[in-house]
Amino acid sequence: MSLKTDRNGMFIYGMTNTDELGGFLKHKFSEHQIQQAYEYLVEASEGEARDEKTSPLSVFWQHLKKVYNEGVPPLQCHRGCAHCCHTGVSCTQLEWDGIVKNAEENGVDLNAVLERSQRTINKVDEVLKAGKNLDQVDWHRLVINQPCPFLSEEGACEVYEDRPLDCRMVVAFRGVCESKKLEHAQRGVVLEEAVGATVIAKLQHDMTPKIKRRKFRGTQPIKLLQHWLILWKQKQKK
Ligand code: SF4
Repeated sequence: MSLKTDRNGMFIYGMTNTDELGGFLKHKFSEHQIQQAYEYLVEASEGEARDEKTSPLSVFWQHLKKVYNEGVPPLQCHRGCAHCCHTGVSCTQLEWDGIVKNAEENGVDLNAVLERSQRTINKVDEVLKAGKNLDQVDWHRLVINQPCPFLSEEGACEVYEDRPLDCRMVVAFRGVCESKKLEHAQRGVVLEEAVGATVIAKLQHDMTPKIKRRKFRGTQPIKLLQHWLILWKQKQKK
């Protein structure tokens, strides 16, 4: 593989596109390992959520947190360092619902969030209104180098416990990041990360009422946080 990694293959440097990352993970883990981890995480998240009367996604976040606490070298990330919060972050409906719930529970005013991010929100809104068909990379370019709507003035995430998978996978094991371009960020190479997006997609599928469900194909639609906020606002007006 051409990706730059540490000696033990514990992480890869810099941001990589999802195809490159997928190739790296397939190189590192067998299909059998990937399938087993996927099945275990879906089952454990749904089972523990039923027992603990919480959401399957919260349980999955706990599993991921444990891996990052125990399974990889200590992270250098710390509160106030927010380089990775200046890029496009996308998430599924399930992750967005978790963010809204977190905001409600912690008194985060989504109207205020919208207001302080008006610049990037307007950019995304313009594209939506023009009906342009952008690919994922172009969507992210719209908001690159701008603070995430949920980044507080103190450089902290206001919905940290429920931040999306996108945010959890960009970390630093060696040194601290020095640029918003994320060339210093590293991605952990753990099985849980390899299957994270598919696990979340399956949890969303299983939580969808049967009458509305489509055949599960391994993914769910994702939208930029700015896009979700626009939809949230429209819903409030109705
Ligand atoms: S959701 Fe939180 S962790 Fe993710 S980019 Fe925004 S502020 Fe940063």
